[in-house]
Amino acid sequence: MSAWCSLSSMTRQTDSLDGQQVVNVYTTRHYQVDTMLFQEFTKRTGIHVKEVKGTAEELIERMKHEGKTSSADILLTVDGGALAFAKQHGVLQKMSTKALLHNVPREWRDQEQYWFGIATRARVIVYAKERVKQEELSTYEDLAHERWKGKVLVRSSASLYNQSMLASFIELNGQQQAEKWAQGIVRNFARPPEGGDKDQAKAIGAKIGDIAIMNTYYIGQMLNSSDPEEREIAEQLGVFFPNQLTTGTHINISGIALAKHAPNKENAVQLAEFLTSTEGQTLLVQGSYEFPVNPETKMPRLLNDWRSFEKQTIDVATLGRLHKNASDIFEKVGWQ
Ligand code: FE
Repeated sequence: MSAWCSLSSMTRQTDSLDGQQVVNVYTTRHYQVDTMLFQEFTKRTGIHVKEVKGTAEELIERMKHEGKTSSADILLTVDGGALAFAKQHGVLQKMSTKALLHNVPREWRDQEQYWFGIATRARVIVYAKERVKQEELSTYEDLAHERWKGKVLVRSSASLYNQSMLASFIELNGQQQAEKWAQGIVRNFARPPEGGDKDQAKAIGAKIGDIAIMNTYYIGQMLNSSDPEEREIAEQLGVFFPNQLTTGTHINISGIALAKHAPNKENAVQLAEFLTSTEGQTLLVQGSYEFPVNPETKMPRLLNDWRSFEKQTIDVATLGRLHKNASDIFEKVGWQ
């Protein structure tokens, strides 16, 4: 039994072999709130959540390799491109229930119901309030200007967050402009990419750079962290939603899909319905500070402050399709 399974005193269905109902989740998510959400799901349904963690590439490859013998019920990713990729590689099946179609608006789900968003995330500009004025910020494109030389912090190109962001610029501005942009950002690096998004915020705190490209929810998590140092750093940071007058802020989804050979299909659907329900979404965003997909979600104040901004309008399948082009650019310009 995995460490994630919490025993519940509530009634439990007992028709699985070992007398325990389970749902096996192949997940690329790495947030504390997920454990809490799964425990709440177990409490309500008696179904235990067993997690297998990995990168999207690893998990999708594993599902392909395992084929009909796969124990995967659910694929949970932090990138819409990865969901589109999984669909394309035939490791998913449709999951269309009334509840899911009600919970998740059309713009955040696959039109053929192969996957559903559970949260959206904006990739924004975070800056040192002490050293940068908000009026100096405008667009992603502007960060490639030489006046930001030595000031820009961003994680490595191995991150799907960056691959999808660059893919969006390829779609909006063309391959050539996207390459020019990536080249400019590399020239402006405060240091060679290292760490995750939160580490870029911490590097602003340590005055290694002034500006970071990162997802908003990490700032929410840091502002509400149990670690006083994280809170202190986050207080010094401003969050800026770029490209409001042009192409909109880059947005991606975290989403859920039913595995093609799911052995516990009904349990999997129940989990998807819970995660997208008003209650599930409210718990999710209070812990992760991602944006909800379900419009009936109760949001923490911070998210209400952030929620009105112009978003890119690119479908996630397009982002997935352009990952290879993005990787080629990253390699060419030396964005490690
Ligand atoms: Fe993340």
